[in-house]
Amino acid sequence: MVEFDYTEIVHRCFRCGYCKYPSDYSRINCPSYAKYKFESYFSGGRMWLIRAFLNEEISWSGHLGEIMYSCSTCRNCVENCVFKFSDQLVDVFIHARADMVENGLVPSKVADFFSNIAKFGNPWGEKKSKRLEWAEGKYYDKNEYLLYAGCVASYDSRAKKALKALKELMEMAEVDFGVMRDETCEGNEVRIMGEFGLFAEIARNNLQKFESEGVRKIITPDPHAFNAFRNYYPEFGAEFNVLHHTQLLYSLLRSKKLNLGKVNAKATYHDPCFLGRWNGLYEEPRKILKEIPGLIFVEMPRNRKNAFCCGGGSGNFYTDYLGGKDSPAKIRIKEAAETANLLVTSCPICLMMLEDAAKSENIDIEVKDIAEILLEVIKT
Ligand code: SF4
Ligand code: SF4
Repeated sequence: MVEFDYTEIVHRCFRCGYCKYPSDYSRINCPSYAKYKFESYFSGGRMWLIRAFLNEEISWSGHLGEIMYSCSTCRNCVENCVFKFSDQLVDVFIHARADMVENGLVPSKVADFFSNIAKFGNPWGEKKSKRLEWAEGKYYDKNEYLLYAGCVASYDSRAKKALKALKELMEMAEVDFGVMRDETCEGNEVRIMGEFGLFAEIARNNLQKFESEGVRKIITPDPHAFNAFRNYYPEFGAEFNVLHHTQLLYSLLRSKKLNLGKVNAKATYHDPCFLGRWNGLYEEPRKILKEIPGLIFVEMPRNRKNAFCCGGGSGNFYTDYLGGKDSPAKIRIKEAAETANLLVTSCPICLMMLEDAAKSENIDIEVKDIAEILLEVIKT
């Protein structure tokens, strides 16, 4: 168990509500509050509930569990709470969940998520043998890079298309890479959802495989995996370097390993929380888009540190506590459609959530991963 005394922090929140907003206070920017519109669903409300639970003023219920897990850990509150403890806000939620998990207090959908990952290595309980169908036998064999897909890109049919585009681009640019034969979940969501014991097991097993295969550099299109490898695996002795695919693609463009044709599109970019607010990676995707001849790049009103989350993080793409009416993905896709006719992102979860929202709301906008738009431009 990672030590962190959050009980000392929960009483310091004033419930002033600044953390619900972006830096210009223009709109609600906490995705769970935007959907539910109850005070218990924003950062300050959750702090209040955790404190009441610790003081035994309320007892655990499935409803309390849902409130805890409807936080997508997007870190908007970390950016916009005005008090000194703001950096630790999301850690408070993660550690409060961890204590609940340790005491067996988890909603059933969350329990299913953990159990599928423990048994099958993915959230849906899909067969392990289906995971690498997309790779067409391009297995890692002491290559320069390991391409790590992550669960969503491996199993979701929409995200898999973006992963295949990335593979094709890497082949075109003659990048020396392969895919681990027995790739399994990297555990980012497992950790932020509070199952620290299962996460430690996953991280140790993955590290053992990486070490025995001599992996030194990892490329991933999944910001959640990028986060786990970059920020959580070092605690278990990881020594490899990890790059997000936007970093690799930008360096391939700069070194002229990919040559671009022209496109005719007005595009905007959705910052994935685990790339942007969690890891400060805002510029590479924008630089890529600005390099594409003919592409007009326009920012959405909420961008970079003020981006509005798609609502898929922290397992919500599976548990769906942020789905349905007023879902963050539906709010975000409307903002994108008011800005441009092409929405580009760089996360398999955002891609899946935002395209589903466009379809269900019948909104006329294309949603693509940055690898897909690059591949199209190269082929024109
Ligand atoms: S978390 Fe910070 S900004 Fe949010 S209500 Fe509490 S004190 Fe205010
Ligand atoms: S991390 Fe995001 S979803 Fe969770 S309370 Fe903060 S702003 Fe809301």
